[in-house]
Amino acid sequence: MDVMSTIEIHRFNNLRIDLHSHTKFSDGGLTPQELIGRAVTFQLDVLAITDHDTVSALDSANEYISTNNISLELINGIEISTAWHGFEIHIVGLNIDRNNRQLLELIKTQQLAREERATAMGEKLTKCGFEGVYEQAKLLAGVGSITRAHFAKVLFQQGKISNLQAAFDKYIGKGKRAFVKPNWCSVGDAIAAIHHAGGSAVIAHPVRYDMSTKWLRRLVVHFKEEQGDGLEIVLPQMSNEQRKLMLSFCLEYDLQASMGSDFHYPSKWSDLGRNLRMPEQANPIWSLW
Ligand code: AMP
Ligand code: MN
Ligand code: MN
Ligand code: MN
Repeated sequence: MDVMSTIEIHRFNNLRIDLHSHTKFSDGGLTPQELIGRAVTFQLDVLAITDHDTVSALDSANEYISTNNISLELINGIEISTAWHGFEIHIVGLNIDRNNRQLLELIKTQQLAREERATAMGEKLTKCGFEGVYEQAKLLAGVGSITRAHFAKVLFQQGKISNLQAAFDKYIGKGKRAFVKPNWCSVGDAIAAIHHAGGSAVIAHPVRYDMSTKWLRRLVVHFKEEQGDGLEIVLPQMSNEQRKLMLSFCLEYDLQASMGSDFHYPSKWSDLGRNLRMPEQANPIWSLW
């Protein structure tokens, strides 16, 4: 049975769907196998793995599911970092062909941008008085995408900050002492690569960009002009106001709706598939598949 028919049938049966999650191949805490194990424990029916600028988790995740005969619909995904008017906008690609040439080319340039930013960030942190942060972050990241979350973890492990958030607030967040402007692709580039790979492009966590409603609307208009498909309108921990606004954008600009926990590792505030419910009025992104 294909993804579409499975999901359509279950749509009326309260399917548990989570279309945004990370593994160790970017800044997640679990291996692909552990993540799938957790999805099974949490009785998910559909899970998308969407690591930052990489599809490296997908082969082993798919293999693990088929070898162990696990009844979980895995959606191959990615979360691509893009630059737009000084904001870093994350575009999630869902139901992609992970071997697509154009997508793999984009991933290569994004990985170069990550590497360049990481070395420059390491140099700035050295000037701030830290030692070997780049090298340790690189070790932590292993073969996966190197992210600021790795840098935050190293700073924390060195005992220089009291929590991971403080790393962003003091050093590596936008405008802070060790911040380096990344060379991400454009929103249009990300959408095009996702479409080349046969996937659907979704603006990830639109409520988390610290943007005014006016700027958010501009982003949605731009995304629509660039042929984007959907908005992630259901995340854990959203206010009712935010829910209403996101749904209204979907309806006004004829965009599909996606939902996901953005799971990185187990925490008390959110977990796989928890607190996710698609509003009745929305057109779910999986209706495209
Ligand atoms: P990067 O994509 O390398 O810029 O890394 C950003 C990642 O760091 C995000 O995907 C989050 O998982 C994590 N993160 C945690 N706290 C923050 C924060 N305050 N600002 C940005 N990213 C954060
Ligand atoms: Mn992340
Ligand atoms: Mn994100
Ligand atoms: Mn994410």
